[in-house]
Amino acid sequence: MTKAKVTVLIVDDSTTNLQVMAAILEQRYQVKAATSGEQCIAIATKHKPDLILLDVVMPDMDGFAVCRKLKSLPETKYIPIIFVTGRDEVNDEEQGLRLGAVDYITKPIRPLILSARVDTHITLKQQQDKLHELAMIDQLTGLTNRHYMLEVVGQKLARSRRHKTPLSILLIDIDHFKSINDTRGHLTGDLVLRQLGEFLKDQFRVEDSITRFGGEEFLVILEPCNEEQAIAKAEEIRKDIEKLQPANIDITVSIGVAQLSNRDLRFDQLIKRADKALYEAKGKGRNCTVLSSLPKAS
Ligand SMILES: [Mg+2]
Repeated sequence: MTKAKVTVLIVDDSTTNLQVMAAILEQRYQVKAATSGEQCIAIATKHKPDLILLDVVMPDMDGFAVCRKLKSLPETKYIPIIFVTGRDEVNDEEQGLRLGAVDYITKPIRPLILSARVDTHITLKQQQDKLHELAMIDQLTGLTNRHYMLEVVGQKLARSRRHKTPLSILLIDIDHFKSINDTRGHLTGDLVLRQLGEFLKDQFRVEDSITRFGGEEFLVILEPCNEEQAIAKAEEIRKDIEKLQPANIDITVSIGVAQLSNRDLRFDQLIKRADKALYEAKGKGRNCTVLSSLPKAS
């Protein structure tokens, strides 16, 4: 994240205060402004700023209520909030920090204090983002890991249901991988995983998330994508993998495919169906794709 792209959202019901803060910050940051709590929540949800400077005393929704709301939403809960207010009572400060704000600045605004506090918290946010990113990446393959998948999947499912767009998953498992590790050694096994990971990354769209789901198992979430398209894609990559020869070894994969249905109440139910289809593919002699039939009405 470069400084040029860092966005600070300033929130105050007084446009004069907004102008003062914008003048201090806009040389180094992209500044967005909101004049009410409702507007702040709308902008924060849409643009995900890196930091929010939040006035406490505002008509309708006060800063504390806004903070509480932002901390309850998955898409905004990690955005650091600094309260800015004319009220310098200790109780307010305590309440603000208890609600999850990272800092507290009192009015009248002193430019150097505002700049310094914003810079400090932006730096901390960037370090935190970096750590978060590292925790979400599988170090061997560079693909996202299971933690990441579980974090994004809720949003993908919600979007698919809201817009009625089909969502399908592929569960891809390397056939007889254990024997590669046993006969060629773990370093070779790792190389196979790494090269297969690179291949998979090239095969899908940026918006499709590809995860190293387990040891030699990869999960791809495709949206929008119905089951026919998912099978076609699965077969295409299965055939390509036959020719891939990662680490100069002939490998094949078995793939379980499942499309999200209204009866999959949770994501793990969809995974379970794909896993069952994958198990069937293994039973059929491997190197093939099996589609999970839709769950029956209960
Ligand atoms: Mg105010």
